[in-house]
Amino acid sequence: MAFLFNSDARRGAIFAEAFAKELPDLPFAMDTATVDPDAVRYLITWTVPENLSRYRNLEILFSIGAGVDRFRFDVVPAKVKVVRMVEEGIVRMMQEYVALSVLALHRNLPAYLAQQRAGAWRDIPQLQAGSRRIGVLGLGQLGQAVLDRLKSFGFPLAGWSRSPRQIESVTCHHSELGLEHMLAASDILVCLLPLTEETRGFLNADLFAKLPEGAALVHTGRGPQLDHEALVAALDSGHLSAAMIDVTDPEPLPPGHSFWSHPKIILTPHVASVAQPATAARAVLENIRRHRAGLDPIGLVDRSRGY
Ligand code: NAP
Repeated sequence: MAFLFNSDARRGAIFAEAFAKELPDLPFAMDTATVDPDAVRYLITWTVPENLSRYRNLEILFSIGAGVDRFRFDVVPAKVKVVRMVEEGIVRMMQEYVALSVLALHRNLPAYLAQQRAGAWRDIPQLQAGSRRIGVLGLGQLGQAVLDRLKSFGFPLAGWSRSPRQIESVTCHHSELGLEHMLAASDILVCLLPLTEETRGFLNADLFAKLPEGAALVHTGRGPQLDHEALVAALDSGHLSAAMIDVTDPEPLPPGHSFWSHPKIILTPHVASVAQPATAARAVLENIRRHRAGLDPIGLVDRSRGY
């Protein structure tokens, strides 16, 4: 029986140390060329390896990231559990990034940066937080965590998910109608949806048209959810005021793309949140213990939903 780590050596060394300490009976391997494929029960990776079928006794396929949109489910046998990364480092970093973005948009930072470049010393009328409505698409571990962090600023908060949810101090919506209601009342819209066939191209011209005049976007989901041209058109028409964009399609964004120099866009290179090796190793160890005890791992992916 073995655990196979299929990612970079730096993170691998941190995982190896944690496994040696916490689960010494489970051999830890990082070399796919020398590991006995029949011994591999657990595999952690960012993408599903081409030769996955050689690991005939695989029980859990762990994603090293929060999403599993890079996983091809058709090559993963049905008996193998697929588990995404749920760990405190990812959550904390996403809370920071979304708080940073919401505050930057709330306090008109993109416009002030443009004014600075133009040498203009001019104040912009400032809404108070209690009048700036925030809507979050996706009420999973990250959507809920960022809403929790935003509570202290006093923004009216809302969220939308597939199934009905109840979260204290958050107006929760679901269904198409619920989405329409939330969009109409979101001055800053945050996307934290997983990438699935249903959410591909979700942030498009139709959706932007349903937001109030002057609304802003924070996109920290996945690149293919955003229609780049529709965003630029909505910003150029003035219907949307600004956007903080962390994920694009493709990544990296090609040279010359309009996002690089758009005055109403602040762009970051997919850095909102990254699994932290020490806490990620602890989360994986805990999931192996749960699995051995006959419990479902935390972050178990429902393949029929794709997340
Ligand atoms: P999660 O716990 O699986 O939550 C996903 C949420 O989205 C759930 O509330 C789910 O609804 C909702 N949802 C999914 N499909 C939907 C649909 N078609 N309609 C309505 N709601 C839908 O995921 P998470 O851990 O919060 O992570 C969310 C995403 O953030 C990841 O998949 C990844 O793409 C992105 N992410 C980005 C970065 C970055 O650095 N930019 C880092 C980490 C993660 P239910 O509650 O009803 O299931």
